[in-house]
Amino acid sequence: MATVLIVGAGGVGRVVAHKCVQNARTFVKIVLASRTLSKCETIQKELPQGAVEIACVNADHTEDVIALIKKVGADILINVALPYQDLTLMDACIATGIDYVDTANYEHPNEAKFEYKMQWAKDTAFKKAGVMALLGSGFDPGATNVFCAYAQKHYFDEIHTIDILDCNAGDHGYAFATNFNPEINLREVSSKGRYWEDGTWIETEPMAIHMPWDYPEIGIKESYLLYHEEMESLVQHIEGLRRIRFFMTFSESYLMHMKALENVGMLGIEPVEHRGQRIVPIEFLKTLLPDPATLGARTKGKTNIGVVVQGIKNGKQRKIYIYQVSDHEACFRDVKAQAVSYTTGVPAMIGAKLMVEKRWYDKGVFNMEQFDPDPFMQEMRDQGLPWNVREL
Ligand code: NDP
Repeated sequence: MATVLIVGAGGVGRVVAHKCVQNARTFVKIVLASRTLSKCETIQKELPQGAVEIACVNADHTEDVIALIKKVGADILINVALPYQDLTLMDACIATGIDYVDTANYEHPNEAKFEYKMQWAKDTAFKKAGVMALLGSGFDPGATNVFCAYAQKHYFDEIHTIDILDCNAGDHGYAFATNFNPEINLREVSSKGRYWEDGTWIETEPMAIHMPWDYPEIGIKESYLLYHEEMESLVQHIEGLRRIRFFMTFSESYLMHMKALENVGMLGIEPVEHRGQRIVPIEFLKTLLPDPATLGARTKGKTNIGVVVQGIKNGKQRKIYIYQVSDHEACFRDVKAQAVSYTTGVPAMIGAKLMVEKRWYDKGVFNMEQFDPDPFMQEMRDQGLPWNVREL
């Protein structure tokens, strides 16, 4: 049905490539392109011969992406490079009139601040080009937005509070490593916390608010309040919402290392002078840390990501928990990647699949919760991300 161009051959790109191949009836031609061709070659070799074509592209250069889209005849682009490339890749899609999917909202490399503003501003251009952009089709953002839409559709007349709860209880055996791009991950978790209540954003010191939460199939884990991007769109689209917060678990070892690295300046995003060379500390740290794409083979344990939603149904108070548990080793068996990459890459493929099959389709720029959640929830079950609903 469609030719898909996947941009980015990291941990998530690997999962998207494998999953598109598993859905070859929808994705009749699959092209994997990234900055470093050897990373595409490694993934290509894991898949049946001829299943995936590869290409080298620098996604910072819109003209190069436009040329590649034209050369391969892409109908849809899945951006699983970095958030820095969101705008250039969206522009390439507008210029060539093809659909766009990503998993993380735009962030400027020189400012650790992510927001949808600049991507939402491209709505008119996408409408004019007659194509669609689906923003944040990973797990969180992504599946968590769909969980909220599903709660709204099937369980509530009015939603009052949402807590998004993200636990990775995986163990890779390293003292310190991040499960997705270290630079993006560390920028996110070392920033100030923020949540939304009664129409205003409330800022907290990093990791200042925390609580224990009992994650099904994992157990009790201390969970820390962070700002996370799906809240920006959910406050716009969930009616009656009074409060939304996001919590993530971290091991003591992770927090201790992060604090020490921060204290010595290793998380800095401003260049420093070192022996006549200018280096960005966090970029150098990325070079030292294990590549997340290599963690798959050694990670054991589970992830559990879900939403606790509270509100009113038929005049009565109600609280439900929708969550998804993934097992790192089972994910590795399926696509040679650990669960954090898996739970991001599978929803990215599902978002693209629903668009190609015109089950989720409209012209313009959209967030996940703006579409009917049912087909996405069904695809999650079919594609390796079974979920549960529990009344609390
Ligand atoms: P990785 O760092 O493992 O992979 C990123 C890939 O993008 C690498 O292959 C990299 O190439 C490539 N890339 C970077 N810059 C460019 C460029 N200018 N042109 C072409 N290719 C480029 O990251 P992950 O796979 O872990 O994450 C991918 C995305 O998924 C990120 O945006 C991340 O924020 C997002 N994510 C979303 C989640 C969600 O639930 N929504 C959860 C986890 C991640 P090279 O090897 O040359 O550097």
